[in-house]
Amino acid sequence: SAQNVGFIGLGNMGSRMANNLIKAGFRLTVHDLNSDVLEMFSQMGVPTKKTPYEVSEASDVVITMLPTSAHVIDVYTGPNGLLHGGKLLRPWLLLDSSTIDPQTSRNLSATVTNYILREKKGEWEKPFKLDAPVSGSVTAAEAGTLTFMVGGSEEAFLAAKPLLFSMGKSAIYCGGAGSGSAAKICNNLALAVSMLGISEALALGQSLGVSASTLTNIFNCSSARCWSSDAYNPVPGLMEGVPSSGDYNGGFASKLMAKDLNLAVESAKLAGCKYPLTSQAQKIYTELCSVGHEAKDFSCAFRHYYSGIDE
Ligand code: NAD
Repeated sequence: SAQNVGFIGLGNMGSRMANNLIKAGFRLTVHDLNSDVLEMFSQMGVPTKKTPYEVSEASDVVITMLPTSAHVIDVYTGPNGLLHGGKLLRPWLLLDSSTIDPQTSRNLSATVTNYILREKKGEWEKPFKLDAPVSGSVTAAEAGTLTFMVGGSEEAFLAAKPLLFSMGKSAIYCGGAGSGSAAKICNNLALAVSMLGISEALALGQSLGVSASTLTNIFNCSSARCWSSDAYNPVPGLMEGVPSSGDYNGGFASKLMAKDLNLAVESAKLAGCKYPLTSQAQKIYTELCSVGHEAKDFSCAFRHYYSGIDE
């Protein structure tokens, strides 16, 4: 079925995901608080709306790609939000790809399921809500090679696959509502620790007289190899097309990594799990943000934490 897709949150990730949906032939309607990005989409001939509710009126599916839980709650339940005034909802699916805490994902799912009905062929049906956060950099968002981790109804997951595969190369069903969000914060805690581990090791290597480039070559054919060494290396000039080679601009902001580590710490506390490395990574990213690097890509830990160069 040809579908009108609403897209809310056209930042580093969302703008690229929206472009891939357009390329795949979906008809998009978009919204963001940033008028510059709306203007950009408008110039491409994509209809723009002033509120999430107006997007939902025009859409069969609404996708959100927002920074934090507070933004997602606002877009869903705030004034002129998707669930504005308890009115009937046109979309059959609300899909949130933001990285937020599992509790909020579950709560929003319950709100959607309990509250709103839509009419289809004379029948009243509930719209589906999926949490579908993604793994992959801005480059992966652009190339359409993201990985989706999906929580919610399995029926909805299967129905959403054509959309997901227009933006990603894999989509993994994780279980009920909130389990996609849970999987994502676990992925990012492992990523933060690996990025800091690689940065710490490369900084030590340099101090001991082994260049970062030699050490990276070694890691990439040895047991330390990981995404942070071979696909997103934090050392400026070692790889092309990654944030470290562009003054750590673009990419995945340190403040978003700090946010995800906060989510992981909160979840670990609730679950009664130990989290010593998460806690240390949280401290480092909080510090990077507090000294002014909150908008830089999270790989900037190499320069601004380990190399101690602070301009
Ligand atoms: P971003 O800050 O670049 O983009 C967020 C966009 O949302 C901005 O354009 C902003 O104006 C808009 N926005 C904020 N509040 C809004 C509201 N109330 N209504 C409408 N629009 C609003 O963030 P991003 O890097 O694109 O990340 C989005 C989400 O994806 C985050 O949860 C992040 O953790 C996650 N993520 C990011 C990456 C990455 O590499 N950047 C990778 C995977 C997951």
